[in-house]
Amino acid sequence: MPNFSIRRHLDVVRARSATVPGGRARAGRTAAAVAVVAALLAACAPQPAPRDVAGDRLLVLTTFTVIADIAREVGGEHVYVESVTKVGAEIHGYEPTPDDLRRAADADIILENGLGLEAWFERFVAGLDVPTVTLSDGVEPLPIVESAGTEGESLPDDVAGSPNPHAWMSPEVGAQYARTTAEALAGADPDNAADYRANAERYADELLAIGDTLSEALEQIPQEARVLVTCEGAFSYLARDAGLDEVYLWPVNVDGQASPRRMEAAISAVRDREVPAVFCESTVSADAQEQVAREAGSTFAGVLYVDSLSEPDGPVPTYKDLLTHDVDVIIAGLTGTPLPDAQEVGR
Ligand SMILES: [Zn+2]
Repeated sequence: MPNFSIRRHLDVVRARSATVPGGRARAGRTAAAVAVVAALLAACAPQPAPRDVAGDRLLVLTTFTVIADIAREVGGEHVYVESVTKVGAEIHGYEPTPDDLRRAADADIILENGLGLEAWFERFVAGLDVPTVTLSDGVEPLPIVESAGTEGESLPDDVAGSPNPHAWMSPEVGAQYARTTAEALAGADPDNAADYRANAERYADELLAIGDTLSEALEQIPQEARVLVTCEGAFSYLARDAGLDEVYLWPVNVDGQASPRRMEAAISAVRDREVPAVFCESTVSADAQEQVAREAGSTFAGVLYVDSLSEPDGPVPTYKDLLTHDVDVIIAGLTGTPLPDAQEVGR
C-alpha cells in the first residue's frame, strides 16, 4: 500500500482538527481517527528483511500458512519460517508481489505443496537461486472428479482429471509432509538433521492420532450414512482415509457454482442415505448447503477449514488445530454428539 495516500489522509485529519473549533466529542473522534491512521501506517511500514529476523537460523519460505506451520513444528528452534501467502489469502491464484520475490531471494529453502495448488510457483522461483522442495512428492494423487450423481456436468478441460491439490487434509499425508520437510531441512542444515527427524516423528504421531479419532468415531454410525457432504470437493484425501463417501456441490478449481443438477444430486444423496449433517468450507457461502440441509431433512452442522490457518487468536491458528477442528465438527455432525468445549462451528 503506498504510504503517501495515508500521509495525505493524516494531513487532512490534522488540518481539520486545527481549523474546526473543537467540542470534546469531535476532538475525541479526531484522536480516534489519528490512532486508526497511525495503526494503518504501522501496518504498511516495510517489514524487516527476513534474513535480519532469522539471524543464524535456517530461513525457510513456504507458499502458504499450513506448510509454514509444519515447517515450524519440524524445524523448531533451528529455523525461521515465513509464508508467501498470508492468513486468509487465496492461495490457488495468488499473484506474488515484487516484495515477495525480494524476500524469497534471501531464503535458504522454499517449500511448496505441489499437485497444482500454487499455479504461480514455477514463475515465482524461475529467477531465484534457492533450492525448492515439493512436499507432495511421493503422495498418491487423487484426481479432481465430479461428485457422485453429477458425472455428466462438464468440468473445464484444464480441471478434469488433474490432481486434487488438498492432500494435507489427510492426517496421513500430513505425517508424510512432516517427514519430507525433515529431509528437506536436514539437506539444507545437516548439523541439525537428528533434531529435524525426531521432531517430525513426534509430530507425525500427533497428526495420525487426529485421523484415528475420526475413524473410531465413525464406527458408531451406519455404513450407509458415512458420507461427507461439503460445498467444494476439497476433502477427498480425508474422506479416503476415514472411509467416508464424498458428496460436494462443486469440484475444486471450478468457480463455486452449485448448478441445479449438482444441487439435486446432493439433495437426493443426503435424503436417500439419511446423512444426518452437511458442511461447508469457511471460504465460501454456505447458503446453497443450508438449502440442501433443509430440502433433504438434514442439518447444516458447521464450517470446515482447508486452505489457510487463522490468526493466532482465531479458531485454527495451527495445522493441528485445523485438522482437529474439522474432525470435531464432522464427528459432532455425523454422530450427533456435542462438540468438545462447545466449540464454535461458525453458525
Ligand atoms: Zn483450495
